Amino acid sequence: MMITYKHEPFTDFSNEENKRAFHAGLHWAEQELGKDYPLVIGGDKIMTDEKIISVNPANKTEVVGRVSKTDRTLAEQAMASALEAFESWKKVKPEVRADILFKAASIVRRRKHEFSALLVKEAGKPWNEADADTAEGIDFLEYYARQMLALKDGKKVESRHGEHNRYEYIPLGVGIIISPWNFAFAIMCGTTVAAIVTGNTVLLKPASTTPVIAAKFVEVMEEAGLPKGVLNYIPGNGSELGDCLVDHPKTRFISFTGSREVGIRIYERAAVVHKGQIWLKRVIAEMGGKDTIVVDREADLELAAQSIVRSAFGFSGQKCSACSRAVIVEDVYDEVLERSIEITKELTVGDPADPNTFMGPVNDRQAFDKIMKYIDIGKEEGELMIGGEGDDSKGYFIQPTIFAGVDPQARIMQEEIFGPVVAFTKAENFTEALEIANNTEYGLTGAVISNNRMHLEQAREEFMVGNLYLNRGCTGAIVGYQPFGGFNMSGTDSKAGGPDYLLLHMQAKTISEML
Ligand code: GLU
Repeated sequence: MMITYKHEPFTDFSNEENKRAFHAGLHWAEQELGKDYPLVIGGDKIMTDEKIISVNPANKTEVVGRVSKTDRTLAEQAMASALEAFESWKKVKPEVRADILFKAASIVRRRKHEFSALLVKEAGKPWNEADADTAEGIDFLEYYARQMLALKDGKKVESRHGEHNRYEYIPLGVGIIISPWNFAFAIMCGTTVAAIVTGNTVLLKPASTTPVIAAKFVEVMEEAGLPKGVLNYIPGNGSELGDCLVDHPKTRFISFTGSREVGIRIYERAAVVHKGQIWLKRVIAEMGGKDTIVVDREADLELAAQSIVRSAFGFSGQKCSACSRAVIVEDVYDEVLERSIEITKELTVGDPADPNTFMGPVNDRQAFDKIMKYIDIGKEEGELMIGGEGDDSKGYFIQPTIFAGVDPQARIMQEEIFGPVVAFTKAENFTEALEIANNTEYGLTGAVISNNRMHLEQAREEFMVGNLYLNRGCTGAIVGYQPFGGFNMSGTDSKAGGPDYLLLHMQAKTISEML
């Protein structure tokens, strides 16, 4: 009997034994630093001369790994290998495919702190954020394996006398997985295994700043028994390699998580039918967010401030779910703002390998410059209450930053910053607060802090976000509990970690036989 799905618990680091175990993980990650990694095409490990250098964003001089780089010729080889593997993989029983995911989950679970420690080094995640990232990856493996078992016989349709109707799901073909650096393990693993367990073969292009954790994941999948050619690992330059994979006539679907700009580019390019292409490509796109926490007049104001601060500054605000706007009903505005500043003062910024660090660095030079530019814009658009400073001498560190008195239409209220910056805005009443919350082009997450039942109900109906949270923060969706994905310019609302997700990777076939 299979154990019922339950999400992977987070590690309690107040426990000394867990702390020691994590230090051992960090020690392992340190031993691994600076290694060379091959591409994996059709099971062959290919070392290229040209490398992507992955560095620790908290310490620019520390090289996490040197990863081989895919060019067009190698990408073409990877496509050929994935096409060939598809012919046999699609016939492998769903139960066997699911078993590989179960096995992979158990390998990662055993080596959990190694994976998390590598995320500390490569993604700049503090301990708890890294631990949650690894746990979520394990959850995707466990959850999608079970989902596949639930879908393996298709769904029920009716039959008339003398007729037998069946409704089955079959795989699509070769998918391109383009994964992000912010959940460098979880989302990379989840998007890849969803495609694989449903019988597709894939080309995985991880984010260029976090390719090492992906290389380790590819090793795990091999150890778990995944046949050669099902998962091809092809790190490379985003725009160059990305375009050529998206345009390829044999690409059947693209599963992308990243910026709105790149998401739109992929969506547009995928719509063009190329010579030799006999299908319309599918695109699964998870893009940005400009997420709001609304605070009502009747509300637990301590909960409000805690929720805003945690959701805005956890992992330096580098989540598409992060709170970047706090919209507060005027009667309680000053109190929530003051308390949020107080809590923010206590936050520690520094090396994520130190267990006492709350916030590590931002991702890279590009992220640092972009966020600092928005901080300058914020200084024009609102009042800087705390933070605003950056230090890129050793790593890419930015202080948690709060702007107050910001106009709902201001750029820092409308544009995704993807950093530790939150703007506060006053609303006359709850209805106006909801209107402001809805006035962006995005629609990913949102939260409402209120003790007014009618207002919570109003939010349930009117707040246009894919993930609405009541009386809690707006980050931290759990696989199988809070399926994740957004409306409007946040993407295709694919709901990762939800009961409908696998269907996006399959096509339904009706078989009707006359008896
Ligand atoms: N699923 C994550 C959360 O709920 C966010 C994912 C992302 O930032 O891409 O916080």
